[in-house]
Amino acid sequence: MISHSPGVVLSLLAHPDDAEILCAGTLAHLVARGWRSHIATFTAGDCGSMELTIQEISRVRRGEALAAANLLGAGYDCLEERDLLLFYAPKPLRKVVSLLRRVRPTLVLAHSPADYLPDHEMASLLVRAGCFNAAVPNLFPRCGAPALERIPALYYCDPLEGRDALGRAVPPGLVVDIHDTLDLKERMLATHASQRDWLARQHGMDQYLQAMRDFAHQRGALAGLPAGEGFRQHLGHGYPQGDVLGLALGDLSHRCG
Ligand SMILES: [Zn+2]
Repeated sequence: MISHSPGVVLSLLAHPDDAEILCAGTLAHLVARGWRSHIATFTAGDCGSMELTIQEISRVRRGEALAAANLLGAGYDCLEERDLLLFYAPKPLRKVVSLLRRVRPTLVLAHSPADYLPDHEMASLLVRAGCFNAAVPNLFPRCGAPALERIPALYYCDPLEGRDALGRAVPPGLVVDIHDTLDLKERMLATHASQRDWLARQHGMDQYLQAMRDFAHQRGALAGLPAGEGFRQHLGHGYPQGDVLGLALGDLSHRCG
C-alpha cells in the first residue's frame, strides 16, 4: 500500500560508489514510483588510486559516478571536497546548503553518524546540519535558491558492513526490500571499475560486487528478505517525524527492532 505522493530524493554521501553500495536499490524503487532522484558526493574520490594523479583519478571517478547515476535516471553533483580531508566547516556546509536549496529534496539519505571512516562521519554531520540550516534564510542568504520552506526528512544509511568504528553492530530501524532492484544496484556499482583494484589492494576486498551482494543478503535477512538496505531516521527536534521513506515504499519497507 503506497500512500505518499512522489517527491525528490537526494543521496548525499562522501565518495563516488558510496550510494551504489549503501542505497542504490532503494533509490531505484523510489524512481520506479515516480520520485525524482539526485546523487551527490562530497569528493570526486581523488585518493582512490595508487597510480593515477589526483586530477586523473578524480576525472575517472566523476565519469564513473555520472554513468551510475545515468543508469538510475538520476542527476549527479560533486561538491569537490578532498578525500580524507572532509571536516565540519563553513565551506563544505555552504556547499551542502547550496545543493539542498537547488535540489529541494523531500527526502535525504546520508551516511551513518557512526561509521568506519571519519569522512563518512563528517559527511553525516554536514548533511544533518545542512538539512536544518538550508531552511534558515539568514544563513548563507545569498547562497543558491531561496531557503527551503521546511526541513527535509533525513535517513541515515547503514554504516559500511553494518558496524561502527569499534566494530559494534549498528542495527537499522527499517530494511527496504531490494530483491527486485539488486541487479540494477550491481550494474551501477560495476561502473566504478577503477575501485576494484584499489579495494583489492587497500582493503583486501577482492570481490567488489560479491561483497555488496553478501551485505545486501545480510541486511535483508534481518527482515526475512532475500536482500535489503537498512536505514535509520533522524528524529531530532525540528525534523519531520513521519516515516516518509516507509510511506513511499509501502510493503517494501520493513520495521526492525
Ligand atoms: Zn565512502
